[in-house]
Amino acid sequence: MSAVQLHVGDDGILVATMDLPGRPMNVVGDELMLGIARAVERLADPAVKGLVLTSAKADFCAGGDIDRMSKWTRPEQPFEAGNAMKAVLRQMEGQGKPVVAAINGHALGGGLEIALACHARLALDDARLKLGQPEVKLGLLPGGGGTVRLPRLVGIQAALQIMGEGADMSPQQALGLGLLAGLARDRDDLMAQAKAWIAANPKAKQPWDQPKFRFPGGDSRSPAVAQLFSVAPSVASARSWGNYPALQHIMSSVFEGGLLDFDAASQVESRYFAACAMSQQSRNLIGTLWYQLNAIKKGASRPAGLPATKVNKLGILGAGMMGAGIAYVAAKAGIEVVLLDTTQEAAERGKAYSRGLLDKAVKKGRSTVDKRDALLARITPTTDYAALQGCDLVVEAVFEDREVKAGVTRRAEAALGEGAVFASNTSTLPITGLAQASRRPNNFIGLHFFSPVDKMPLVEIIVGKATSDETLARGFDFVLQIGKTPIVVNDSRGFYTSRVFGTYVMEGIAMLAEGVHPRSIEVAGLQAGMPMPPLALQDEVSLSLGLHVADQTKKDLAAEGKAYVEHPGMAVVRQLCALGRIGKKSGQGFYDYAEGDKSLWPGLTRLYPTAAQQPPQRELIARLMFAQANEAARCFQEGVLRSVADANVGSIFGWGFAPFHGGALQFIDALGASAFVARSRELAAKYGPRFEPAQVVVEQALRGGHFSDAAAKAGT
Ligand code: NAD
Repeated sequence: MSAVQLHVGDDGILVATMDLPGRPMNVVGDELMLGIARAVERLADPAVKGLVLTSAKADFCAGGDIDRMSKWTRPEQPFEAGNAMKAVLRQMEGQGKPVVAAINGHALGGGLEIALACHARLALDDARLKLGQPEVKLGLLPGGGGTVRLPRLVGIQAALQIMGEGADMSPQQALGLGLLAGLARDRDDLMAQAKAWIAANPKAKQPWDQPKFRFPGGDSRSPAVAQLFSVAPSVASARSWGNYPALQHIMSSVFEGGLLDFDAASQVESRYFAACAMSQQSRNLIGTLWYQLNAIKKGASRPAGLPATKVNKLGILGAGMMGAGIAYVAAKAGIEVVLLDTTQEAAERGKAYSRGLLDKAVKKGRSTVDKRDALLARITPTTDYAALQGCDLVVEAVFEDREVKAGVTRRAEAALGEGAVFASNTSTLPITGLAQASRRPNNFIGLHFFSPVDKMPLVEIIVGKATSDETLARGFDFVLQIGKTPIVVNDSRGFYTSRVFGTYVMEGIAMLAEGVHPRSIEVAGLQAGMPMPPLALQDEVSLSLGLHVADQTKKDLAAEGKAYVEHPGMAVVRQLCALGRIGKKSGQGFYDYAEGDKSLWPGLTRLYPTAAQQPPQRELIARLMFAQANEAARCFQEGVLRSVADANVGSIFGWGFAPFHGGALQFIDALGASAFVARSRELAAKYGPRFEPAQVVVEQALRGGHFSDAAAKAGT
């Protein structure tokens, strides 16, 4: 069966329907392009008046074939693949008869590039339909003519925005930009409009093939565009700290292409595409945010063989910051929610949080009054445990206190059916210990959400000693049901995310005590690719919380007869707390906060005088990143982590580990175990034994192997 079905109607119009055999979606590869080339050949027939390109699948075309791209090892391969696709598309737009894209579903990446090579684009008027060039998110650029056609259609500035941000557009937005010629009610209307366009434009030509073609808004020589290019690269660099070469390559391709004719510009694009496809950043991003993330979503970390489950009624204990956020995301997913607190007022306040978010969404046109009211009607605020009857799952989000948590666990279980799952949203307390308060520890699990719950994509699922596979599967299904990404870890102090995230922040704080200038520390965090610098981040979390957790850990370890080794950064935290500088919530921490603004506290350099000799930034960056990667490797070695995919995806989604590295363990894989071990030992000699490389990496260095091999073996 061919990838593109051809049918000529009585009207003489050829309809080419993309339908890649054996694939759920149409993806750009040799097979699809060959099918399109065949359709173009049919246009030579004098009886054929024009071509409508559409799809038999739910999407129009989802983008490039990533499996094919991941096999490329030499730059000639992406260069030639790009050129082969371009040759077909150039032929399609230049053969003299009209071609219309009838966009019936998502047209993303290479899919949109195919549509751009048609003389007109029409799309279904469905707000869920996505159009866009998301290549940059995987470290790539549109290599099928996107950086050449898009600027010639919508202007250089708009094109840079579309390709540089990689955000999806709705058909309405695309229409506003002039990317679409019109919108259609349904598939029949789409086809009718496409055919009408062909009838009305028998001699269609692309704008850039017209003799008097001008770029909308000017080409790269025009003063306005020259001015744009005098600032855009530095703005992009300031935002990305130069960590995402694809962004620079997109800008270069558009700029240089804006000085050249169409065909020369296409060649330039293929070169930049090859550079992107061969970059380590792209490999890291594709490996983690494509393959490993997809494996997680398909349930790689879910116990196999158990039937899929759904939560219909959810109980939430504690309507504070976290409880209120969890109520919102669950109600949004259509789940009935009982939101319980100690007073009716507190419970109502928790529900009001959802109202606040929804009112904002209605105001911005992202939701409607009806949808808001329906969602709010699903949340019942209460103080009555009897209301929990019939809940499939209860998430506890009361104060971080063992006694308080034990009390609510007992009261809730008394009202729940035998099969209900009880989950704790604790951020620090081991789940196995909390489960002691439960009558059914098999049904007890940790569901660690991140704040703010409505924005953060991850939930860390913690498996206690007694947690059953069935409970894990049900927790996993719930996380997917509310649209979040689950990672599964074994019980341990700080679990995975808090434990590794802590090493980033504490390493930055330790530098302060050594006399590194606080501004250099903060800049190093951003240069490393982290979303927030370490001192600012500790202020957000609060220094007093950090101190509380450290003291609790010390006490717990003493009770277990184990040694407690304090991180050198902790002495700084103690000192600031003693001065009452406990973080953002008190208006002062490493920073002073006033009227929505903040600045580093000048007293910091008096307390910790700046050393005359400052280390190079790359040394600071290495410390911040090695500290995290090494701790993640220790979590893997100790069995806290159950999979490489969970480690990598969890690090990016949980605390923003620099995405271009592909996650905390991929950081080590990309560097190579031997190089990681050697550099870690250097750092350990200079800054302390916390940098001694994890044994698992030392073994890899000796015997070979990568974390990603383990991921492949586990099918992830
Ligand atoms: P919070 O102080 O904002 O909310 C706690 C809520 O629990 C309050 O509304 C309080 O009235 C209620 N509560 C206390 N005792 C109760 C009882 N006996 N019965 C019913 N309700 C009771 O705290 P939070 O920030 O929402 O944190 C809640 C839990 O989530 C904690 O375990 C915390 O460690 C964890 N957590 C917090 C974050 C975060 O960033 N804040 C992130 C992940 C996990």
